[in-house]
Amino acid sequence: MIVVMKIGAADEELKHVCKKAEELGFSPHVIYGKERNVIGLVGTGGNREEVFIIEEFEGVDSIVPISKPYKLASREVKRETSIVNIGGVKIGGEELIVMAGPCSVESKEQIVSSARHVKAAGARILRGGAFKPRTSPYSFRGLGEEGLKHLAKARSETGLPIVTEVVNPVDIDIVYKYADAFQVGARNIQNFALLTALGQAKKPVLLKRGMATTIEEFLMAAEYIMSEGNHDVVLCERGIRTFETATRNTLDIACIPVVKAKSHLPIVIDPSHAAGHVQYVPSLSKAAIAAGADGLIIEVHPEPERATSDGAQSLTPNQFAKLMSELKLIAPAVGRKL
Ligand code: PEP
Ligand code: MN
Repeated sequence: MIVVMKIGAADEELKHVCKKAEELGFSPHVIYGKERNVIGLVGTGGNREEVFIIEEFEGVDSIVPISKPYKLASREVKRETSIVNIGGVKIGGEELIVMAGPCSVESKEQIVSSARHVKAAGARILRGGAFKPRTSPYSFRGLGEEGLKHLAKARSETGLPIVTEVVNPVDIDIVYKYADAFQVGARNIQNFALLTALGQAKKPVLLKRGMATTIEEFLMAAEYIMSEGNHDVVLCERGIRTFETATRNTLDIACIPVVKAKSHLPIVIDPSHAAGHVQYVPSLSKAAIAAGADGLIIEVHPEPERATSDGAQSLTPNQFAKLMSELKLIAPAVGRKL
C-alpha cells in the first residue's frame, strides 16, 4: 500500500499517517518526491477497512495498493528517478556519472596513480576492491584494511569519492569507516544477511545484478536494503550468464529500459565484467549510455598486464581517456551531460 499525500500537505499530517500506520503494525517509509510525498506501508498491518480510514485523514490524497512484489523500489511509489549522493556526487540526475579504477587495490602507488588518471579523464568516483570475492580460493583476495587505507589516500589526493566492495557482513564497519559507498558484488546479490545489514548502514549501496538473477529478483534485493531504511541504492547491471562464451558475460542492455520502467532507482552499467575483454568495453559503454543508463563503472589499470585481477578487461588510462571523449559526444544526443 502507498499513501499518496496531497501537494503541500503539512509535516504534521504526514506524521499523523505514519503514527497510524505504526499502530496498525506497518513500517511506514516516507518517500520525498519533487511534487508530493508518499508513504510506503511495508509489512502486514490491519485489515482493509482499518487501512482505508487513513484516506480520510487531513493531507491525504489517496491510498493505492502496489501491484509489484517490490514496493519501495517501485516506480509506483515514486515517479521521478531517485538521486543517490555518493560523497557529494549525484547519480540519477541529468549528469552521467562514470566511476573508474582498478579491479583490485594492489598498492598505494597503483591506486593513487589510477585515481589521478581516471580523474583527469573525467571520472567522478574511484572504484577499487580491497575485499575481493574470487571464484577460486587460490586467487588474490584483496589487501583488506590496508587496501581501504590506500583508497582513502587516493581520495585525499584527488577528491574522488570511493566505492568498494564489502563481501562479508562482519566487514561492514571497517568498510564504512573508509568508503563513500558499499559495493555488493554479483556473487552476493542474494546474501540476505549482507543486504539486511547494509540496509541499516548509513551509506549508499551500489548493488550489482547477479549472473543468474532476473530483474525482479534484482529489484527484490534492492527492496531488502530499502526495507531496512537505507533508500540510497544504485543498481548495476554487469552482464548475465548465457550460452555465449565470446564475452565473459552477456550485457543485458534491455535491463536498462526495463528497470527504468519498473523502478525509480538509478542504474549504472559495468561494461568491464560484461565484456571480459578490453576490446569490447568501449562499444558496450556507448550502448549503455545510448540506452539511458545513469552512469558507468569501468575497470582501468595503469598497467593492465600486471593486474592481480581482471587485467584482460581493464582499460589503460589512454584507452579510458579516449572512451570518455567519445562518450561526451553521445551524452547530449540522449539529453544527458558528461
Ligand atoms: C568487481 O567489481 O571487481 C567485481 C568482482 O564485480 P562482479 O561482482 O560484478 O563480478
Ligand atoms: Mn573485477
